[in-house]
Amino acid sequence: MARVVNTSLLNTIKKHGAKRNLDVSACFNCGNCTAVCPLAKDSGGFPRRVLRMAQVGMEQELLASEEIWRCYACGECTQTCPRQADPAAFMAAARSYAISRYDFTGLAALANRSVLGNLFVFALFSAVFSGLLFARMNPGQPDLPLFHFIPGEWIHAIGVALFAVVGISAFFGIASMVWRNWRQQTQQGHTLPLSTLPRAVYSAISDALLHQRFQQCDAESAASDRAELPWYQRPWLVHASVMGGFLAMLLATTLDFLFKPIGSPVPPWYPMRLLGAIGGLVCLYGLSIVLLRRAQGKDHPYTKSSFSDWFFPVLLTVTVLTGLACEVIVYLPSPATTGHVLFFAHVVFAMDLVAMLPLTKFAHVLYRTVALALFAWRHAPEKAEVSVGVEA
Ligand code: SF4
Ligand code: SF4
Repeated sequence: MARVVNTSLLNTIKKHGAKRNLDVSACFNCGNCTAVCPLAKDSGGFPRRVLRMAQVGMEQELLASEEIWRCYACGECTQTCPRQADPAAFMAAARSYAISRYDFTGLAALANRSVLGNLFVFALFSAVFSGLLFARMNPGQPDLPLFHFIPGEWIHAIGVALFAVVGISAFFGIASMVWRNWRQQTQQGHTLPLSTLPRAVYSAISDALLHQRFQQCDAESAASDRAELPWYQRPWLVHASVMGGFLAMLLATTLDFLFKPIGSPVPPWYPMRLLGAIGGLVCLYGLSIVLLRRAQGKDHPYTKSSFSDWFFPVLLTVTVLTGLACEVIVYLPSPATTGHVLFFAHVVFAMDLVAMLPLTKFAHVLYRTVALALFAWRHAPEKAEVSVGVEA
């Protein structure tokens, strides 16, 4: 079968990692990165093989590969690369490129290729959501409760429409990835029995939620600078705090909308309010470590941060901070103009965050989980054979 080669693939991926001064062409295929990568033992040739795909223009193979998503950005490979090709930064740029290609709207490509594009998409969403909220806002009355200042039903309606649009966009992005991967696997003669799919999905979701491989990578990185970090600053715990805190806030907001009359007063110990506040604080802990270490830029994976590396944690931090402020303001006798402004900003930032989920680095939450499932699915029959052999 004829193989289509994209001669500009490497240059295009470089644009997605421009601020990291990415120079993948320096790679001379020595294999040091494969020797140290904690994932290479169950995926031979990783990550060198993916770099090679970019060098020779194997675009379809790269987009079909689940390997770019399995990478934990630990930076072990970059530390040992004798050519400063920075394979860890390449993997991050390749993920950004893949997100742009899976997205059918073209907004992801715009947001991920340049700082201006990223700011334009953010400003566009902010303008749309501000306009929608402004249409039903009741300004000039500082005593109005928050959900009367902007009617709760109106926020609910925009939220439902937003989740529907983002869900459709994410569905098509994931379908694009899965289709490419499935086509490649079947062309290579791999069998993917449906009977092993549920187990693969279960293992992927538990890995993503519990950060099992992330913890393993941390434990195995005894020779790296991460081994000197105190336990509470270990990358897996920091990442788990950001993700767990975010999921707790999302769950609290969803349950609130489903089971509580909009805007009805509840005490601070109301379970959903408590869950949201604790989730916010946990998320804030993880974010503060991420931002501090990015600012210091001393250890991997924080040494060379691009604009998009900053954008997502900063947007999430601002959203959480304004959200926690609203949690307090709601119990004040009068929210006053400051409270109204904070509430308006929080709702716009939260909607921006959801709208940008399938378009930016944030999308790794989705693609990574699916990639883990695809990998587990492909390897399930092999594992079964090995275990049968051992028992015999
Ligand atoms: S990225 Fe660096 S370590 Fe990996 S194969 Fe290329 S030159 Fe060697
Ligand atoms: S960053 Fe870590 S997980 Fe990713 S390819 Fe390099 S060594 Fe492997």
